[in-house]
Amino acid sequence: MAHPSWGVEQTHEYHRDGRGWLGLGYNWWIGFDGTIYEGRGEKQGAHAGPEWNHRSFGIGYQGDFSSQEMTDAQVESGAWLNAKLIEQHGLSVEDVVGHGDVADTACPGANFRMAELREKTRQILEGDDMLDKAVVYSGEADRDIAGQLAEELGCGVFPRQVAEDLGKFAKVLYVVGGGEDGLEADSIVDLSGPNRWATHKRVAEHLL
Ligand SMILES: [Zn+2]
Repeated sequence: MAHPSWGVEQTHEYHRDGRGWLGLGYNWWIGFDGTIYEGRGEKQGAHAGPEWNHRSFGIGYQGDFSSQEMTDAQVESGAWLNAKLIEQHGLSVEDVVGHGDVADTACPGANFRMAELREKTRQILEGDDMLDKAVVYSGEADRDIAGQLAEELGCGVFPRQVAEDLGKFAKVLYVVGGGEDGLEADSIVDLSGPNRWATHKRVAEHLL
């Protein structure tokens, strides 16, 4: 969407008031933290021009990828959403294309991780995407300590909502806040305490 900071609400307002559209033009929209928002869902979008709007889905990603990097969480969530839509609509990984593949535009930008996104989508569809371990955190305040733990363990770190949406995606989950509910794994190391302070203390002890 070529804006460095706008969230889904600001993009919606711009598309409605600035462009005169019915509202957010994308079918889905993915924030930096990997949260997937439903825009127009499976109704016609306003994302790729008259030739493609009625026969494609538009997935917008927060950020300006001519200058910024996509986050790992955006790649994870995007791949999951792609895989779900491919399964539901009888599509294939080859159908995942950039705006610039169907229109004269630099969108989605040189830093958009398209090859990785397609590869992860393929892995999810083939069911060989299971990670050995992953760290899950609940809120922004847990993000830093969860990141330290992930670095120590040598694995990825996922916002809780993404982890819940992915279903079983890792053999072992280390949970920083929020407990085990809604998460699936062969084993769960729950480092959540009764409050944030206690959680951070438990993680710090685990790091020692
Ligand atoms: Zn575009």
